Amino acid sequence: MKKKISIIGSTGSIGTQSLEVIEKLQDKFEIIALAGGSNVELLNKQIEKFRPKYVCLGKENSELNTQGAKALYGDEGLQEICSNKENDIILVAVSGKIGLKPTLSAIANGIDIALANKETLVMAGDIVMKKAKEAGVKILPVDSEHSAIFQCIHGELEKVDNLIITASGGPFLHKSIDEIKHATVEQALAHPRWNMGKKITVDSATLMNKGLEIIEAHHLFGMDYNHIKVVVHPQSYVHSAVEWKDGSIMAQIGVPSMHIPIQYAICYPDRPEGIKSRSFSFADAVKFDFLKPDFEKFPCMALAYEAGRTGGSATTCMNAANEEAVYAFLNGKITLYDIYTTVEKIYRQHKVVKNPDIDEIFAIDKEIREKTKELFK
Ligand code: NDP
Ligand code: MG
Repeated sequence: MKKKISIIGSTGSIGTQSLEVIEKLQDKFEIIALAGGSNVELLNKQIEKFRPKYVCLGKENSELNTQGAKALYGDEGLQEICSNKENDIILVAVSGKIGLKPTLSAIANGIDIALANKETLVMAGDIVMKKAKEAGVKILPVDSEHSAIFQCIHGELEKVDNLIITASGGPFLHKSIDEIKHATVEQALAHPRWNMGKKITVDSATLMNKGLEIIEAHHLFGMDYNHIKVVVHPQSYVHSAVEWKDGSIMAQIGVPSMHIPIQYAICYPDRPEGIKSRSFSFADAVKFDFLKPDFEKFPCMALAYEAGRTGGSATTCMNAANEEAVYAFLNGKITLYDIYTTVEKIYRQHKVVKNPDIDEIFAIDKEIREKTKELFK
């Protein structure tokens, strides 16, 4: 029996790599739906190749060539895909706040999720994880660090003492605060290890990405923030590690490639050979460096720890302000360092709601985005 899968964000970095994985595992997967935002040309090529039953774009577009598939659009289209019980699993690979609603729909319909979209858990991790548990839905991590931790834990969470998340350090690891303050969009988008969408690439430059990942790890593994550590590892061979209660540490290692975590998530609990293209060689790796993270140079990370520990709507607020600030940076309205000052300012003004329900979360998210955008006028 083939596993039936839909991909939300199929035209993005994770989406296209997931289709490379699925192409190698054609005997194991059947694609139910593909959803992109605006890249109709690429979506058309994907439709031609994978022949899904449903296709979705952000907005109606006359150039969409469905090849007989049902055409869907916008939020409602994503909703329809994610509530289709034909799916065994849905890969949520959109970027930013768009991921939350489809994830909630999939959970409500008992469909397992391979989750790349970390913003979903930063916005509403308590609710998402609780609902998933109640529905018996698996949330399988795609983010490489969380996949590494998931692979190490392998069902023995109660024996884990600390999660050790590695960070490449991004393009400004060895730059001064002054250089970071004057960084151009081009410099921020030149990530030394990973080729990703723009939002996550900017987050990786400010290390907010690591901050979001700390919060993501807290929700995925139910781990207290005092037991989630970050270590900088520029080579990105060690994708993360767990420290067991007896002090033994187990790490997951491999070439920096998203194919492996994507494949592990969508194939779980199987581990087929699939797209294996390059093997990691310890002899060729030569150097494994590890450094302490610099919270002063990258204050977004410290703010994320604080927001995570505060809980409630604190992380919803931080996520919304960050996302809007990142878009403002990409549009040339603010500097890279202003992302931090903006998020900090908005965050300090926010009155935290302790146990927000989902409607409150969407309302807070909207309000914070409006407030943040006001600052750029
Ligand atoms: P990209 O920007 O490359 O891709 C985003 C995808 O979302 C695109 O397919 C885009 O479509 C689609 N999209 C945008 N708006 C809509 C919409 N309204 N409806 C449906 N689809 C839409 O991002 P990444 O692939 O890099 O990242 C995706 C998520 O995965 C992020 O949350 C990121 O943090 C996470 N992640 C990514 C990693 C990576 O290596 N890239 C690693 C770990 C996590 P289109 O392009 O057609 O407009
Ligand atoms: Mg990651």
